[in-house]
Amino acid sequence: MEKIINNFINQVYNRNKNEPEFLQAVSEVAHNVIPFIIKNEIYYGQNVLLRMVEPERVVSFRVAWIDDNEEIQVNRGYRVEMNSAIGPYKGGLRFHPSVNLSILKFLAFEQIFKNSLTTLPMGGGKGGSDFNPKGRSDTEVMRFCQSFMTELFRHIGPNRDIPAGDIGVGSREIGYLFGQYKRLKNEFTGVLTGKGVSWGGSLIRPEATGYGVVYFTQNMLKEKNIDFKNKKVIISGSGNVAQYAAEKIIKMGGIVLTMSDSSGYVFDKDGIDLEKLEKIMTIKNIDRGRIDQYLKYYPKSIFKKNSKPWNIKCDIALPCATENELDKNNAKELVKNGCFCIGEGANMPCTPDAIELFLNNKILFAPGKASNAGGVAVSGLEMAQNSLRYNWSREEVDEKLKNIMFEIHKSCLIYGKEKNYVNYVKGANIAGFVKVADAMIAQGVV
Ligand code: NDP
Repeated sequence: MEKIINNFINQVYNRNKNEPEFLQAVSEVAHNVIPFIIKNEIYYGQNVLLRMVEPERVVSFRVAWIDDNEEIQVNRGYRVEMNSAIGPYKGGLRFHPSVNLSILKFLAFEQIFKNSLTTLPMGGGKGGSDFNPKGRSDTEVMRFCQSFMTELFRHIGPNRDIPAGDIGVGSREIGYLFGQYKRLKNEFTGVLTGKGVSWGGSLIRPEATGYGVVYFTQNMLKEKNIDFKNKKVIISGSGNVAQYAAEKIIKMGGIVLTMSDSSGYVFDKDGIDLEKLEKIMTIKNIDRGRIDQYLKYYPKSIFKKNSKPWNIKCDIALPCATENELDKNNAKELVKNGCFCIGEGANMPCTPDAIELFLNNKILFAPGKASNAGGVAVSGLEMAQNSLRYNWSREEVDEKLKNIMFEIHKSCLIYGKEKNYVNYVKGANIAGFVKVADAMIAQGVV
């Protein structure tokens, strides 16, 4: 078996030599899915996984724009249209200096499985640019977004490819992108999700990924008759996902001890309550500041520069910042300190050897493609509302989100249950694969 898997990975490696993040994501899936394919005749011989790792289309383009000093800036824009077997391409846009094809292909590949798990009809895609919105004025961000959309608009559409936000792309950027799309196409359609509520957005979309991570984790805890009450939780990140994960945990009675950004983390031993979280939201979303400003308001807390929070004693850890932010040494420390549950809020935040350590120690471990699927799920609900020309209430969307996370958890159990343990990684990979593979086989070799 190991030989077959290695042959497959080598084949993918030979075609994608300079794409470590993409190879990491493919390798994780291959280890779970190839043994399943070999045992199941209908998939064997169809080369479905080999087809899945090749994007249906990749677009790369120049984004030229003029900054506030009237200097010409040039960035690179991308859209990776990975798989449309079960629906139009769907996945976020990331604006961050680290963006390259490897990162976008890993994210688009993960998105195929995640979207499949949501039960909604959405294929997998991802895009973005190496543009850094940090430190840029609103008008610079607007000019960049307009230039970016001036090329992207010809590749997307409400039945073709529907982008959304991700790191560096929040409601401000979605607004500028949507405005330019509307101007170029002269039509008001649901071509982006994460829109403002007054112009086609869904209630609960900003909250959805963070809430969804907590709902999924709650389902895992329930299997062990545990809940969030009085559990000590450490969170990394202080962006969209981290903020709403923190809010939901606090409301469920958990104690949030840390939040972070790329400059370091804050540790508040008394717990970050709703009022303190509000301050973090102001610092990050309105002032566009750094997490250490928290100490101005709460001087008894601690700020650790250029560090990650994984050495703080906790029951539950939710990595919600970025890929590969939690390695094997961090995992060892967490397990040693008694952490019994990890829910990935970010995409691929744990390295493969960290995941292996969690699984070997029978830690409850939720992979991002299952636990952070709430965001794209509510994006799917936003698309449905746009098609209906109707809006559901906050309560209705939240209820649908809860149900979707419950169903994703159930799917993971079907393929991930082992003796006295649930391997959610295996469960999510196989459950996500089956639906897409069935559709690809039905649609022939295309
Ligand atoms: P935001 O841009 O809102 O926040 C990102 C957070 O992570 C910020 O606190 C940022 O710090 C921190 N961060 C980013 N890069 C690094 C880094 N290299 N090292 C340390 N910290 C870093 O993004 P989101 O909250 O939307 O996304 C977070 C993660 O969740 C990503 O992996 C994303 O792909 C994933 N995700 C997001 C979804 C969504 O709906 N938004 C849906 C599903 C997954 P700083 O402010 O200093 O940059």
